[in-house]
Amino acid sequence: MQTLGHYINGAAVSGTGPRTLPVFNPATGAQGANLSVATAEEVESAIAAARAAFPAWAATPPLRRARVMFRFKELLEKNADELAVMISNEHGKVVSDARGEVTRGIEVVEFACGIPELLKGEYSENVGTNVDSYAVRQALGVCAGITPFNFPVMVPLWMFPVAIATGNTFILKTSEKVPSAALRMAELLSEAGAPKGVFNVVNGDKDVVDQLLRDPHIAAVSFVGSTPIAQYVFTTATAHGKRVQALGGAKNHLVVMPDADLDQAVDALMGAAYGSAGERCMAISVAVPVGPIAEPLVARIAERARALKIGPGSDKEAEMGPLVTAAHRAKVESYIARGEAEGAALVLDGRGLTLQGNEGGYFTGPTLFDHVTPEMTIYREEIFGPVLSVVRRDSFEAALQLVNEHEFGNGAVIYTSDGDSARSFSNGVLAGMVGINVPIPVPMAFHSFGGWKRSIFGDHAIHGREGVRFYTRLKTTTARWPTGIRKGADFAMPTMR
Ligand code: NAD
Repeated sequence: MQTLGHYINGAAVSGTGPRTLPVFNPATGAQGANLSVATAEEVESAIAAARAAFPAWAATPPLRRARVMFRFKELLEKNADELAVMISNEHGKVVSDARGEVTRGIEVVEFACGIPELLKGEYSENVGTNVDSYAVRQALGVCAGITPFNFPVMVPLWMFPVAIATGNTFILKTSEKVPSAALRMAELLSEAGAPKGVFNVVNGDKDVVDQLLRDPHIAAVSFVGSTPIAQYVFTTATAHGKRVQALGGAKNHLVVMPDADLDQAVDALMGAAYGSAGERCMAISVAVPVGPIAEPLVARIAERARALKIGPGSDKEAEMGPLVTAAHRAKVESYIARGEAEGAALVLDGRGLTLQGNEGGYFTGPTLFDHVTPEMTIYREEIFGPVLSVVRRDSFEAALQLVNEHEFGNGAVIYTSDGDSARSFSNGVLAGMVGINVPIPVPMAFHSFGGWKRSIFGDHAIHGREGVRFYTRLKTTTARWPTGIRKGADFAMPTMR
């Protein structure tokens, strides 16, 4: 069986450490590979390579860095189908969904191709007589990225193209459940012309992360994953003097107003709740019908969910694949049991699903709960599976209050045909990303992605202009040339004359 290693200093390297982790195919339950966990020395060598590469890369004109990104974009496009299959084999999502993920990732590389424009600074002539001032943004140094299992290509691409285009070097610690795509992207970036050491991949789990969070040579950490780990990463890395953006978990609500187009709302909920088996940080896990629309909405979703085509990711007909691991399926199914025990109405139960020919796969069918209340565990906690909870409310105000009182604030959506409701929702909702008749409002690469409340720790959202700000620091120079220099020392606070 293949043992996957790391990518350090421009080359794939076999792991030398004693620990390995199994990588499974969730559709079959069969082990596809072993993953070598990086030793402390291997992580150190990646950091050393990134440090050594930094000065020359930071000094490379942005236009030339952009040209590497242009070539990387072309190579990603050329290899997109291969990457999508890699994702599907380790994550379980259907290949068409994985292909969409690759496209959304490539869009960040397209954004990074515009880095000369994005790095343009500010200049003020004559801030004082014959004195000029200019402000530029410079790279930080070695940046690290730690990413979750659910987007093995897109989430790393949220980070490293922007970090590298702005002149940093990068170390990626991808999820140990889905390691292959990151290693392939490292090869493609080298092929695109990134000098060795500019992009490195170290594989492993907590120990590798801890080393990155504490190493004094890492300037900044980008994290995407669950809220407890995001908080841990934020507190640990900031305590070690680093700049940190740590994006966490979610419980995204979709409010359905009585005036909404019911067909559209049902379509939206089907895709957003059950697509990718609910393993998206922007998945909708709570539907909030307002008033009498609740009855037909629940009935229609139940009918559609019963007919959902479930299968391995490679099945072109499948609309939903398996969950990522056996342990995650057990966790999701334990939440379903908890919801039932706490008194929610279980309209559709996806537990115990076995597919003929894929008996070893980690499948859970679509699950629908009605009459869920805010006190229930299935409402409060992120399940990260194909489980939709319906919480009924009588008014727009009560629906908005419900959304706003939840601890998470990643995305929030309203379906309505009334502009006033839509505007009030967008204006008043406590969430970082809002959808109006759009079920999964993931901002495009040239905007920025980030939630509010306990869905994010740190001040910067990811990619877009926020990403450029995160990966650079401001330097302002005030300059006077000889004709303007006055004679004599001045002991008062300088003011411009
Ligand atoms: P996770 O938090 O378990 O793991 C994320 C990363 O942290 C992985 O690389 C993992 O190896 C590492 N890690 C895990 N435990 C650690 C520990 N104790 N110490 C140090 N590092 C540790 O998340 P996951 O299960 O891979 O991904 C699913 C979660 O990610 C969900 O909560 C989902 O909402 C969230 N997510 C959020 C966003 C967002 O943009 N807000 C996007 C995608 C996923």
